[in-house]
Amino acid sequence: VAGLVQDAVTWYAGAARDLPWRRPGVSPYAVLVSEVMLQQTPVGRVAPAYDAWLARWPTLPELAAAPSGEAVRQWGRLGYPRRALRLHAAAVACVERHAGEVPAAVAELEALPGVGRYTARAVAAFAHGVRVPVVDVNVRRVVARAVEGVAEGPAAVGVADLALVEALLPDGPAGAAAPLASVALMELGALVCTARAPRCPTCPVRAHCAWQRAGAPVSLGASRRGQGYAGTDRQVRGRLLAVLRGAEGAVPAEVLDAVWDEPAQRARALAGLLADGLAVALPGGYSLPA
Ligand code: SF4
Repeated sequence: VAGLVQDAVTWYAGAARDLPWRRPGVSPYAVLVSEVMLQQTPVGRVAPAYDAWLARWPTLPELAAAPSGEAVRQWGRLGYPRRALRLHAAAVACVERHAGEVPAAVAELEALPGVGRYTARAVAAFAHGVRVPVVDVNVRRVVARAVEGVAEGPAAVGVADLALVEALLPDGPAGAAAPLASVALMELGALVCTARAPRCPTCPVRAHCAWQRAGAPVSLGASRRGQGYAGTDRQVRGRLLAVLRGAEGAVPAEVLDAVWDEPAQRARALAGLLADGLAVALPGGYSLPA
């Protein structure tokens, strides 16, 4: 197992994608921004949004001082825009509780808005060098195949999965070794040991892979499609929010009516935005929160 991690790290040194949040000197705040943006969103869409966000608010206190509605506006079309509100709220909480710094302790990170089990550990590891397991679906899939010899990891990552991955991390005090192992396994899952079409013949950890030794017994590719986007409430919410983002001040209800024909679905989407705090009702219509 040690050889597996070592071979993954060696491969990573030559094959890693050059992503802006992996560059030297990135602040803990920038790591937090990247991790929140990467929740449910592909790297290629996150990179430009990340750069634009940090150009506007280079430090955490600057974000915390901005109105939450501006965070929603800046989020643009990245999707799942409640993350913008939570990221803003996390910045405010860091100012109030941690003197404007992103904490290093997992428990303190998990207490921040929008920071769950995975994100807390990713920030602790990648921003502060803490030796904690960072287990996303990619890591879990690599470990399921290479260590456990099964085709798929569990649908959700639980406490037992954290312990399984922690056992793979290099020992030692805080520093680069354990986070490097985590990011290497993550990248291996993203680029080589993919869900539907793992590139086993050229995989750098093939020699250690239990699933390969077992003959890769299950055929992959049974489609597990996610919910489509077209026609969903999410699409309607996205259209409504795009109008609000593009406006200064209140947008009259008639303008919002024009973005979607089906009135019940439109009303449901608008009610959802209001309930989530992504929009507010004003005397003349609706707007982003102040
Ligand atoms: S050999 Fe194949 S299944 Fe095993 S870790 Fe590599 S890509 Fe994944």
